[in-house]
Amino acid sequence: MEILDNIAALNRFRPGAGEIVLIPTMGALHAGHEALIRRGARLAAGRGTCVVWIFVNPTQFNDPADFARYPKTLDADLAVCRSAGAGAVFVPSKDEIYPPGISVPVPDLPRVATEPGLEDAMRPGHFAGVCQVVLRFFELVKPKVAVFGEKDWQQLQVIRAMAKHATPQVEISPFPTVRESDGLAMSSRNRFLSAEERTRALAISRALTRAGEAGSQREAEAIMATVLGESGIQPEYAVVRDAETLQEVGAGARRALIAAKVGSVRLIDNQQWPKRR
Ligand code: AMP
Repeated sequence: MEILDNIAALNRFRPGAGEIVLIPTMGALHAGHEALIRRGARLAAGRGTCVVWIFVNPTQFNDPADFARYPKTLDADLAVCRSAGAGAVFVPSKDEIYPPGISVPVPDLPRVATEPGLEDAMRPGHFAGVCQVVLRFFELVKPKVAVFGEKDWQQLQVIRAMAKHATPQVEISPFPTVRESDGLAMSSRNRFLSAEERTRALAISRALTRAGEAGSQREAEAIMATVLGESGIQPEYAVVRDAETLQEVGAGARRALIAAKVGSVRLIDNQQWPKRR
């Protein structure tokens, strides 16, 4: 596995890499990321290379404290990438991605990025930073496919919409959420939960599961509020939306989405609604 820590090294690597399947991450890799990389390695088998990018992107953090304490576990991350079948890991410095004095463009945000009541309401500017870094990496790495987790459902829809317009040559491949055996969605931030908070955090996946049985959207939202409230969790949002546009009403598939702070740790999760029968 090649470790590429600058753009010149990436440019030397690319010509022999074949079709690149890109797995964008911020590091602190867990079994969910590992599954994404395994999928990437399978997709690349026989025709190219699975490349993992590890970069904690400062422009997508609207909370400096969250950025400062974002976990950094590079040695362990490289071991995960290697065992999951990555052919290369791209770990650039901040100055390589955002050269001082040069402004890296922020693409036009698709409408799904700013649907009221969701991520943009809680983390203004977050998706502008995500789109900026994803576009920069797509231009540098030139992947054929990029794999994104369904765990970050709104992000997945934002990137799909952005790529359709800005980089139609890149296929966006979704990957289902990987969970702990008790249902908690895996997240790099779970390590900050105390034992008591971790137990309470289970209310999030429980709320989504219970809501899946509800007969109406309104009932589903009421159930989520109740289940979370029973564990002392006041959600930032707990709603059912159109799965693609994230608008309140839609004709197609629907998705239940929750964001909530448990203690000081912000967690998000989502599930298809209603539950598949
Ligand atoms: P992150 O580094 O946590 O921002 O995530 C990097 C990629 O991994 C994103 O596409 C995430 O959606 C995905 N991811 C994170 N957690 C999970 C999970 N539990 N299951 C599946 N994909 C995940």
